[in-house]
Amino acid sequence: MRLFLRAVFAVLVLGISVPSLAKGVSETDLREHIAVLASDEFEGRKPGTEGEAKTVKYIAEQWAKAGLKPAAGDGSWFEPVPLIQRGRGEATYSFNAKGRKLRIVSDEIVLIGKEAEYAKKDLPVVFTGIGVKSDGSVGADVSGKLALVLFEADNAPAKMKSPRARREALIAAGAEGVIFVGDSQGNWPILRRQLLSRPIGLESREKRAKLEGAISTEFAVALVTAAGRDWDKLRAHAKGADYTGEALGIDADFNVMTDIYRFNSSNVIGKLSGKKKGSGAVLYMGHWDHLGICAPDDATDKICNGAVDNASGIAVLTEVAQRLAKKRHDRDIYFIATTAEESGLLGAYAYADKPVFPLEDIVISLNVDTIAIAGRNSKVAIIGRGTTSLDATVEAVARKTGRAIESSTDANDFIQRQDGWALAQKGVPALMVGGSFADLDLMQKFLGSDYHGPNDELTDQTELGGAAEDADLHIALGNYFADTRKYKVTKAGE
Ligand SMILES: [Zn+2]
Repeated sequence: MRLFLRAVFAVLVLGISVPSLAKGVSETDLREHIAVLASDEFEGRKPGTEGEAKTVKYIAEQWAKAGLKPAAGDGSWFEPVPLIQRGRGEATYSFNAKGRKLRIVSDEIVLIGKEAEYAKKDLPVVFTGIGVKSDGSVGADVSGKLALVLFEADNAPAKMKSPRARREALIAAGAEGVIFVGDSQGNWPILRRQLLSRPIGLESREKRAKLEGAISTEFAVALVTAAGRDWDKLRAHAKGADYTGEALGIDADFNVMTDIYRFNSSNVIGKLSGKKKGSGAVLYMGHWDHLGICAPDDATDKICNGAVDNASGIAVLTEVAQRLAKKRHDRDIYFIATTAEESGLLGAYAYADKPVFPLEDIVISLNVDTIAIAGRNSKVAIIGRGTTSLDATVEAVARKTGRAIESSTDANDFIQRQDGWALAQKGVPALMVGGSFADLDLMQKFLGSDYHGPNDELTDQTELGGAAEDADLHIALGNYFADTRKYKVTKAGE
């Protein structure tokens, strides 16, 4: 009996642990990469910093070691992504009514030009309320003028609530300048901080007015009062659903210098060449960037290390690459570590605009982001569920690896907040598959605590069990979708 029991025990131990040691991804594998990428030495991996240089070098080295070949356009690992930052420089301005200069007893104004120098005289000022009507269109005549816009827009239609959407609508309507008014509820400090934070943009996709900026309510009241108008009445009118704006009888003169910093960041791109040319490709992606030095100078910990977001995703991609490189697949398999996701999926958009092989060839794109959340045995959710014809196939592969399926579409709340969205906009079947978005209470707990703060660090408590299982799932998905006998695609016309 004892011997027999021992034998059974041995079989169980071997049966369970040996195969997973042989090919499964472990927490330790992932932890080693995260420890480097999320270390203070990498300074939070902000694009354009020394932290970027260290990050993209580490990824390229690890991917080379894993067996990938460099696949950027020039044959290197690094596909340049031209980015731009604008910062406040010296500025002078005056507002004039009926030929006299208005005296404004406030200096709560921030002005940023599209170009390094902006000089203009007699620019008419139009108050536009929230900038758009209830149908989302611009009602005010802003063409060649300066639009003053209320920042807060509770009454705006859903797709026009964001200041960015309203700014772009006003620019499309011909506005030369767009200045937001940091209306009530302490919005001015937020607006001011945003403008002074030198936000990163992808210049090829940016829609900017020649002059942009913000003023406080105090400044707006002083301006409007000096021109003989009543701010409260003006604002009350602007709350009407079909407010079409009013010319204020004010002209403005500007001389605005702007610090412009253009730099190339990098998407890291690697590849496993398939056996069957022209049979399509599987694409894995995940963003390498995070927020850099993110806390005030006097904080004890100033670095947003981004261990979960998204060192964990890069760790998974690297381990998946290493396992998939062990055999030759039918289809090509690409790996892309994107830049500037945190600034609005910029690296992914840049890739979608300038891919290294035709986007139509992608049979599935799998994004991996913020993956160290759930423990082992979590269900598998699909972000993008219902947007492609792949759900059933992905689920079947997941079930084969022993995973249960979360079949609700709740995870789709995150669909626009991840890099796959940039590819989906161009018709690529783009999904995010895994456990971290299956238990949304757990995800919300992270989003409400360490997320985007100095505490997103690697600790003994960092949960990597689910990420390891998700890595195994991504290996299984790669093995399946890169196999032309298992996953067949019918091309149009065939
Ligand atoms: Zn993030």
